[in-house]
Amino acid sequence: MPLALALTACAGGGVSGAPGDDGLGDPYFPRAGNGGYDVRHYSLTLDYTPATRHLTGTAVLTARATRDLSAFRLDLTGLDVASVTVDRRAARWNRAGQELTVRPRDDLDAGDVFRVAVRYGGTPVTVTDPDGSEEGWLPTVDGALALGQPTGSMAWFPGNHHPSDKASYDLTVTVPKGLWAVSNGELRGEPVTRGGRTTTYAWRVAEPMASHAATVAIGRYDVRRTTTGGGLPVLTAVDPEQADASRAALGRIAEVIAWGERNFGPYPFASTGVIVDRPGDAGYALETQNRPVFPGAPDTALLVHELAHQWYGDSVTPRTWRDMWLSEGFATYAEWLWREDHGGTTAEETFTALYEGGGDGEGDEGDGDGGEDDLWAFPPADPPDAAHISGRPVYDRAAMVLHQVRRALGDDAAFRALLRDWATEHRHGTADTGDFTAWVERRSPETDFGGVWRDWLYGDGKPDAQ
Ligand SMILES: [Zn+2]
Repeated sequence: MPLALALTACAGGGVSGAPGDDGLGDPYFPRAGNGGYDVRHYSLTLDYTPATRHLTGTAVLTARATRDLSAFRLDLTGLDVASVTVDRRAARWNRAGQELTVRPRDDLDAGDVFRVAVRYGGTPVTVTDPDGSEEGWLPTVDGALALGQPTGSMAWFPGNHHPSDKASYDLTVTVPKGLWAVSNGELRGEPVTRGGRTTTYAWRVAEPMASHAATVAIGRYDVRRTTTGGGLPVLTAVDPEQADASRAALGRIAEVIAWGERNFGPYPFASTGVIVDRPGDAGYALETQNRPVFPGAPDTALLVHELAHQWYGDSVTPRTWRDMWLSEGFATYAEWLWREDHGGTTAEETFTALYEGGGDGEGDEGDGDGGEDDLWAFPPADPPDAAHISGRPVYDRAAMVLHQVRRALGDDAAFRALLRDWATEHRHGTADTGDFTAWVERRSPETDFGGVWRDWLYGDGKPDAQ
């Protein structure tokens, strides 16, 4: 049972710090993440039994205090906490909503690197987002699928759940024998089966990862390990029901990665791959880091989109949920470029079709009715609320912003260099909209981008002139 806890100084405790903030002030998810520390590494040890939907976990976070702290918060929703230690000493803790407040025995000083271990368990919850989509922990017919954009990762592990705090990960997952537990990063050695009943999979993500890009997919999968022509390891995990339908698109992974490296610079992670579950296991595909998730066999365009996110979204991560267009606009533009580079419509033609309201050939109207599919409903850089961070302007209209940058530069090679350099110079970091516009202006001081930002990025409604 949790100890009752008041956030006041212990008698004689010599308190010098103050409790860390319960959020990072994100424009749409102000309680997401926490103030006063940076996580450097997550070590998650999970055990899941699909038949009972029971998860047991230990999360060990290595973090650095960014100011003196008498207490700090982690985000966790649902599940029961059994114990918390800080630097191996029992810590007091309590919970309120998604905030798990931890009070270490001794205050932490700014600059201290500390290790907090949380033991927890229970039935993880599925989270319904403000836009009605489901994430968090999604039970499937043969296991479960964990998806975390924007806030669902707090349904399966405690952490600093905001994209501005990226960290490396170890994810060690034990499941009943016969099932796979597929995650991000690379397998550390072969799976280990113990007692003929359970199998443990140990994954390591060496590069920084935002917690919303973490995944675990538990179930029966056809797992294949290959390498690209460039030597990049590829691990694909495909639900056997989706194997035939997936084969054509997945056969192009190496080609898409090679094309991405030519256009976006070196691939940012140590391996790649995909996870293909069944249609209905999730309502959308997601760019989980170095191994995106697809609910059902993807087509080539969707594969290109999610693999492009490895550069834009996973490696260069939007710093707040207001900056989503830096992820989705680039991934959408990657689809345009892929078509252009493979004998399909040019990006200019795609842009014009969208501007003229004919859509992009996939049934989109852009008809100004303010509905979900309205291209002009709001500016890409300023969605009106949390329910719209994945709205259509954040995808298609944001791609139109990039096309306007291309037109303003007036030079195809300069634009392709811009795409590549943005990914390379911000590799494994975070960026917001102001970072992008300032960076573009710095590298092309002779070009006036004012109208692009004013009308296309921040402006309301359909810009007058295309
Ligand atoms: Zn996307």
